Amino acid sequence: MRESWRQQFAESPDVLLGASRRRTLVPVRDFFVGGDEFAVMAGPCSVETESQLMATAHHVRQAGARVLRGGAFKPRSSPYAFQGLGREGLKLLGRAREATGLAVVTEVMSEVDVALVAEYADILQIGSRNMENYALLEAAARSGRPILLKRGMVATIADFLRSAQVILDNGNRNVILCERGIRTFETAMRNTFDAAGIALLKQVTHLPVVADPSHAAGARELVPALARIGMAAGADGAIVEVHPDPDQAWSDGEQSLDFAAFDAMMNALEPWMEWRAAELNVEKLEQHELAGLRLAGAAQ
Ligand code: PEP
Ligand code: MN
Repeated sequence: MRESWRQQFAESPDVLLGASRRRTLVPVRDFFVGGDEFAVMAGPCSVETESQLMATAHHVRQAGARVLRGGAFKPRSSPYAFQGLGREGLKLLGRAREATGLAVVTEVMSEVDVALVAEYADILQIGSRNMENYALLEAAARSGRPILLKRGMVATIADFLRSAQVILDNGNRNVILCERGIRTFETAMRNTFDAAGIALLKQVTHLPVVADPSHAAGARELVPALARIGMAAGADGAIVEVHPDPDQAWSDGEQSLDFAAFDAMMNALEPWMEWRAAELNVEKLEQHELAGLRLAGAAQ
């Protein structure tokens, strides 16, 4: 690793890739995030109704998603917008999980809700607005659930990695980093997708990284391209908003894909999966790391 990066990220020593540190594989139900499979997490921005969630869950599963996303506790920019169904939303996620076998990722916004959300979620999501809420990070880490940590919208990579370090410091190594776009001078898109940030994270940290093309773009037309860019930059997966009828969605409809558009996105990713397997061969990386570990062992 470049010396300048080592210095810049010196406050997050345990998240940095080292000669003898293997890449972290985060166990989620029956697979790993960070392994050879590109992990697609898909579902509505917010859990709205049983029929909305069930239809979406069944659809994204048959299209190849492994994780169902859906917010029950919603951080909204407007205090007057829908704030989520709370516990009822979690129960619906639990039912969809049962019915489809998908794992569930859902946001926790407050320390007091960690135990409740952890009852229903396979992965706890920490939202962009809470990335630097260390009290929440500590409580979420101690739940023992894997954590999907979203990059703050004005967070540098160093800030982002410091937050990941807080989770590791609290006894939880199962952290998935999520690039969801950052604020820049550009206003034509909701945020600016930092694909270079994904490539950099894959260079400097052993943690898996997923792309969120939906919140980065803010416009459904751009989501498939950003998903492909994320994969090409080295992401281990993508988290994508999907809704049966995006124009009627209670939140983030303008960036949500309908079922046909999600299928088209998955089909368009397919050829890149082969490229990914060949170019970013996870097996090869693991062999390389294992070889490194064997050398380190032999040297002792
Ligand atoms: C979300 O995933 O719906 C969400 C609110 O994301 P972010 O925290 O990245 O804005
Ligand atoms: Mn959203």
